[in-house]
Amino acid sequence: MDCVPSIDGAWIQRRLEELAHISALTDRLWRPSYTPQEEQARCLLESWFVQAGLSPRRDAAGNLYGRTGGTGRVTLVGSHMDTVKGAGAYDGTAGILCGLAALQALLAQYGPPHTPVELVSMVEEEGSRFSDASFWGSRSILGQADPALLSCRDEEGITLARAMTDAGYSPSRLPEARRDDLARYFEVHIEQGPILEHRGVQLGIVDTITGLGTLEAEITGRADHAGTTPMDLRLDALQGAARLILQLPDLARSFRNATVTAGSFQVFPGSANVVPGRVSILVDYRAPDPRDLEQLGRKIRQAAHSLETEGFGVVTQPRMSVPPARLDKALGHLLEQCAQELGCSSMHMISGAGHDCQLFAGQVPSALLFLPCRGGRSHCPEEYAAPEDLARAARVLAAALYRLAWQHP
Ligand SMILES: [Zn+2]
Repeated sequence: MDCVPSIDGAWIQRRLEELAHISALTDRLWRPSYTPQEEQARCLLESWFVQAGLSPRRDAAGNLYGRTGGTGRVTLVGSHMDTVKGAGAYDGTAGILCGLAALQALLAQYGPPHTPVELVSMVEEEGSRFSDASFWGSRSILGQADPALLSCRDEEGITLARAMTDAGYSPSRLPEARRDDLARYFEVHIEQGPILEHRGVQLGIVDTITGLGTLEAEITGRADHAGTTPMDLRLDALQGAARLILQLPDLARSFRNATVTAGSFQVFPGSANVVPGRVSILVDYRAPDPRDLEQLGRKIRQAAHSLETEGFGVVTQPRMSVPPARLDKALGHLLEQCAQELGCSSMHMISGAGHDCQLFAGQVPSALLFLPCRGGRSHCPEEYAAPEDLARAARVLAAALYRLAWQHP
């Protein structure tokens, strides 16, 4: 494909490293939403948008846009700029910089497109400052930002509404952030898992973003003296919980591409010399098929309640549920074709992590392109993507954008 300009992966990587130096913590990267550090990063991105020939603007939620010329419905390309605590330099921002490199190259070679392309850098995807408000930026764009969440608080007790206002954005004008003029959405993201690297494939075309459920299970036994209560007269809640936990991997394996993780435990009273009287567990379960997700949730609940036959009290409560998102077949096919024509290997895959893309997929045709990251590591300082992999993803994106916005009026 001669029409696609070459892209310098080292250029992308240098900018990612520059952004990663802007952190709210001195020893690790954390860029929480609506902080001075996030604003500093946004200003830097904005200056790069302008250098690339994009017209910048910010919406009421703090999402930063850069727009090409052209008329008609908009092709939106984006990802998020907030990070988890102790993050790497690539999650989210790699997608923004790949989009920027693609648009900069296309604008330099061909001038403005027939139909507009916008690049967006979105706020609060991770929910690392406001855990209940993850996907806040994309939700605002899609008109799904629940105003009730404006009163949720960060660890310091600051509400989302206050944080937005202090950062210069406007909770009351949030409805203005909504877009009804989008034709489609593209997101480039590091895989955050080991599959591409393991199989030696250069790019992943995501068909489905897996669905997610969270279940809270509380198991009540009886707190007793650890020295005086014989082993066969105890009702140890942690022993019950442990038996439940041991069943979870087999439950996950009984569904295709499902995972179950029990990563959060609270033991009461939590003393070495007291038989645990009560245990609270949070179980995260995921599956790409909506029926599997529902059944898996039911089986986990059943496994928990089966402890009742041993005398334990069991209360289960669903905490969160996000259905799987099917991405657009035609856009996926276009990315696959562009990859092939540029001589890149690609494979279809499922995303086990959530992305802004899954929200867009509910309203407009959406596509998610994965590039490999070393060792599959992510959400940690070791996160790394090679310049040639960044460049490949940006070039395939550029080829798809060229066809949709430059070639076809
Ligand atoms: Zn991300």
